[in-house]
Amino acid sequence: MPGLDALAAPAGGHGPVAKVAVVGAGWYGCHISEELQADGHDVHLFEALPEIFGGASGHTQNRLHLGFHYARSAVTRRQASQGYRRFKQVYPALSRPVTDNVYAVPRDDSLLDGETYQQVMQASRLPFEKVDSTAYGLEPSTTAFRVPEELLLTDRAKAHFGESLRPQLRLDTPVESFEETDGGVLVNGELFDALIDCTWGAWAAGGKGVWSDLYFEPCVTLVYESERRDFGLTLVDGPFFSVYPFRNGLHTLTSVTHTPLARCRSHEEARQCIARQSADTLDRTRRAMETEVVRYWTPFRESFRHVNAFFSVKAKMRSESDARVVSVRRSGRRISVFAGKVNTIFLAAEAVRRELHAVVGKDLWVSL
Ligand SMILES: Cc1cc2nc3c(=O)[nH]c(=O)nc-3n(C[C@H](O)[C@H](O)[C@H](O)COP(=O)(O)OP(=O)(O)OC[C@H]3O[C@@H](n4cnc5c(N)ncnc54)[C@H](O)[C@@H]3O)c2cc1C
Repeated sequence: MPGLDALAAPAGGHGPVAKVAVVGAGWYGCHISEELQADGHDVHLFEALPEIFGGASGHTQNRLHLGFHYARSAVTRRQASQGYRRFKQVYPALSRPVTDNVYAVPRDDSLLDGETYQQVMQASRLPFEKVDSTAYGLEPSTTAFRVPEELLLTDRAKAHFGESLRPQLRLDTPVESFEETDGGVLVNGELFDALIDCTWGAWAAGGKGVWSDLYFEPCVTLVYESERRDFGLTLVDGPFFSVYPFRNGLHTLTSVTHTPLARCRSHEEARQCIARQSADTLDRTRRAMETEVVRYWTPFRESFRHVNAFFSVKAKMRSESDARVVSVRRSGRRISVFAGKVNTIFLAAEAVRRELHAVVGKDLWVSL
């Protein structure tokens, strides 16, 4: 392996750089690769699939979280609102406002009452406007707020990273072996200074000994067409549903109860569960979700028509409570990233840069 000083200096004449293998081209792997590339490192981004964003990142509800989802976790709210602002600064073209975006707290079933929810959001300085719930076809006892949360433009993000990372990308190239040696880490037999696992727990070998407490949820998201344009309705706080704009005038529907199809020990097991889904099981899930929606919001029945569905796998930590926070851990030359929400990519990238600095030495040029 070439020593650090033997490695090429970045354009601009700074000090030596590290040769880094990033595994997984979703939001985390792509953003982290861009940042490390900007620092002057020699980045190689491995992706098992033939295209980027083929994992969870390309199959989400595309909400740029601001914190309204997390009435019971101050840390997640803080991370979300900071990440939201940062996202809009760094990637202004990768999200857009939602015309009518409503959070609603049903009086009888929510874990928090509407007034407490409002106080929590006010204390967190989140911007919202209280609105008349009946104007949206909700029960008069439901408390409703219009919020400025935005929609992630995932197709544009895919195009952006596909272009900016073109020279670094190794598509259709799963990382199958990894071994730490004295002077580096062998990835599929090739020597690197460090490996950064951004597979959200999917690559079991990458997380071995690092994440001992993960489980995986195969998830279904339903897609609907509607004459309502650009409308979001999210019920909080508890086992409710969420309707959100998607692409081409479509909307997605997810449900805290029905979107997770199972709880699995491995990513592979979750993928098998998805492969077993049939038209019948999907239809049952759809009917269960729709029954849940119309219980709180009857206009759904007349104004939304089911079109199709997509699946993705969510990784969770057993120790997690209501927090959905990002985590970065290091073991030797392997740095493992556990995703939070999309807008926590910045926190992850900062932690990765710190850990990379610890791995490859103080004389390494990194703008920390
Ligand atoms: C149903 C659902 C809805 C969601 N909605 C939202 C939302 O509205 N807003 C939000 O902010 N977040 C949402 N999330 C969370 C969001 O999906 C994650 O924060 C984000 O996608 C994680 O990105 P990632 O890059 O870590 O993982 P991924 O996007 O899963 O990327 C991991 C990549 O690693 C690759 N890979 C795996 N193993 C290997 C290997 N051995 N070699 C090479 N490559 C490998 C995979 O193919 C994949 O492309 C949602 C998640 C789900 C499941």
